[in-house]
Amino acid sequence: MFTNEEQALINQSLLITADQLEASGQYPPQPEPAYPTFPDALREVHEKQPDPKCPNCHVSGYFYPADKAYAPGHVYSEEGLAEFTRYSRYCEFCFDGLMREPEDEEQE
Ligand SMILES: [Zn+2]
Repeated sequence: MFTNEEQALINQSLLITADQLEASGQYPPQPEPAYPTFPDALREVHEKQPDPKCPNCHVSGYFYPADKAYAPGHVYSEEGLAEFTRYSRYCEFCFDGLMREPEDEEQE
């Protein structure tokens, strides 16, 4: 079950999400200099729209190491990458949301 906040992220452009994350400062740290910052990575994904896309949020999947999924299309762990590339092709943002029990929502 997605939270209302997550559903809103799915419905809006990645460009808006990138701006929001940048303004809030709440996004994963740059793992190494070769990586763009997370908001810039989102803008790049939005511009290039590489395949494959997640069947739920219809956003291109992209790998960016982090502790959790920050935006639709985000894949942050090795396990999530395997899930996305080999199995369901759900991004980790959607996978985590869809697998979550409704009760968890109120604990956050
Ligand atoms: Zn997705």
